[in-house]
Amino acid sequence: MKAIRLEKPGHYAKVQIDEPQKPAEDEALVRVLRVGICGTDVSGFLNKMPFYSYPHIPGHELGVEVLETGAGVTHVKPGQRCAVEPYLNCQTCRACKAGRGNCCETLKVLGVMTDGGLRPRFVLPARKLHPAGDLAPEDLPLVDGDAQRLQQVFVNLIANASKFAPESSVIRVGASAADKRVTAWVEDEGPGIPDGSDGSIFERFRRGADLEPEPGGLGLGLWISKSIVDRHGGEISAARTSEGRTRFSVTLPAEQAE
Ligand SMILES: [Zn+2]
Ligand SMILES: [Zn+2]
Repeated sequence: MKAIRLEKPGHYAKVQIDEPQKPAEDEALVRVLRVGICGTDVSGFLNKMPFYSYPHIPGHELGVEVLETGAGVTHVKPGQRCAVEPYLNCQTCRACKAGRGNCCETLKVLGVMTDGGLRPRFVLPARKLHPAGDLAPEDLPLVDGDAQRLQQVFVNLIANASKFAPESSVIRVGASAADKRVTAWVEDEGPGIPDGSDGSIFERFRRGADLEPEPGGLGLGLWISKSIVDRHGGEISAARTSEGRTRFSVTLPAEQAE
């Protein structure tokens, strides 16, 4: 079968590769449906990404369909569409054992340090597959927006979370799509927003009063985030979750695929 390989910076080649092997016990064979190209890929092409290895097949933002699973795989089955988590971790080092696979001492990112998804089929650890429900490949969420401004929103929210989060606590980031809208959220285990403050924490210069651990505040950051999200036709909100965490959610309209 054919694949696209980045042979060296600045040079892609169409190459002939072997069919993948049968999946082992804990692996899955998948068919690639969609591949996103992101800034990491562009930097790899331009030789500006220190972690990129050459030559390899890029593609780490993937929508796939499961074709076959190893005998030990239970959470996905053939025919299911899945998103792929590209962080291939060892599961045995200190970071992995602490549940922080993204900090694995020998982390390999699919499509960045190893062959990725710009090929018709490949085998990967099945635990890296996240079922996408009944979302059609065409419905995989796209958001039409100003990438730089939206990045600023999430940098603000993550900076905010890290400022309020207690030492050694976990900041969670997630996203979901439904009803032609995409929601992304940032959650921390900090003291949260004052009861009854409603949307007022997003007002200009408001700083969350006495909860602020140091002066300087992020009130302006939240106000800027809200104005950026507003301009994208979206919504930003803050809530206390049932687990007692503080969750900032951003909802944006998903683009309609053509
Ligand atoms: Zn990426
Ligand atoms: Zn590890």
